[in-house]
Amino acid sequence: MNNNHTKLLILGSGPAGCTAATYAARSNLNPILVHGNQPGGQLTITTDVENYPGFANAVQGPWLMEQMIDQARNVGCNIINDNIREINLNVSPFIFKSDKEIKYTAESLIISTGASAKWLGLESEEKYRGFGVSACATCDAFFFKEKIVAVVGGGNTAVEEALFLTKFAKKVFIIHRRDKLRAEKILQKRAFENEKIKFFWNSSIAEIIGADNPKKIIGLKIKSTIDDHFSELEIDGLFVAIGHKPNTKLFENFLDLDNEGYIITKKQVFTNIKGVFAAGDVHDKAYRQAVTAAGYGCMAAIEAEQYLELKI
Ligand code: FAD
Ligand code: NAP
Repeated sequence: MNNNHTKLLILGSGPAGCTAATYAARSNLNPILVHGNQPGGQLTITTDVENYPGFANAVQGPWLMEQMIDQARNVGCNIINDNIREINLNVSPFIFKSDKEIKYTAESLIISTGASAKWLGLESEEKYRGFGVSACATCDAFFFKEKIVAVVGGGNTAVEEALFLTKFAKKVFIIHRRDKLRAEKILQKRAFENEKIKFFWNSSIAEIIGADNPKKIIGLKIKSTIDDHFSELEIDGLFVAIGHKPNTKLFENFLDLDNEGYIITKKQVFTNIKGVFAAGDVHDKAYRQAVTAAGYGCMAAIEAEQYLELKI
């Protein structure tokens, strides 16, 4: 097993990890950043980003993340395409093992492993994932040209997914468990004005109905959330957009997590272990935006630098 020692290891290359990497590299900490399985993070699965400061017009999520990664690399961060699968934070230096069988040791750590899509938890959802059930419209909308699709959820992701799907599908249903969307008003307005989008309010998905030859979904059994009424809806695709859960499984034996799995932090980015900092969607369940994740990345890098200086 190879050994890579660093003063600062950064896990994740979303806005939090990249920003931490840029600040840490400019402080001469020679950080190593490990990408994980989603280089660039969540913004790589979206299209228009309209609210990241500095751009008068919308920019594409994957492009924005390429820029952030290149920026960190250009100021001296060592960026590695690998995923961390095992850690030990009870020793000094901290020890990490990766999928590529590389051993890393680090004097300090910034965790910016972000969040991943939540699923409904239905057996039929598991069965038809990849056969009509998806959590990424940007990735899969193309397969639903002139088809009928549904999106479940009422947040920004659900409404953005629905709007994007209207470029391909002939009809898009939004199925939401309440009668009010959580999404920002500007997105709500666009959805209400789009003739292809129809709403199922106060509704949840009881079952995904599929066919087996060929394997595909053909409809949904929908349950009212206010009474016992059930209905059926014929669709060709279902996009699940019911929120995200933090990627913290690796840390559960070491760090204090809340009941939803978010890392508990004090003074913005400090965890319960000295020298271990958290930044972005992995600990922030209030804001969960690219700009706030980047902000936390900056704070974590500044705190890591101070920690390393005092320690030495
Ligand atoms: P993430 O972007 O989630 O990045 C996490 C990183 O951690 C990834 O690189 C991953 O590979 C890595 N990782 C995970 N596990 C490991 C491991 N074991 N080892 C090493 N690395 C690991 N926000 C906005 O402000 N504007 C928008 O327009 C917008 N649109 C969005 C559209 C969609 C479809 C979604 C899902 C989200 C959107 N968001 C938007 C929210 C925004 O993407 C997130 O708030 C932001 O990406 C969080 O950044 P992060 O760096 O904390 O984590
Ligand atoms: P979210 O804001 O947490 O919304 C999740 C939605 O799914 C809510 O409407 C919720 O209903 C519903 N839901 C949750 N669990 C459900 C279940 N089991 N069954 C059915 N419905 C369920 O998540 P998100 O939309 O993925 O957004 C995550 C973060 O990323 C947010 O901070 C968001 O602002 C950010 N984001 C930003 C943009 C942007 O700026 N353009 C785009 C995408 C995402 P309730 O409303 O009833 O709780």
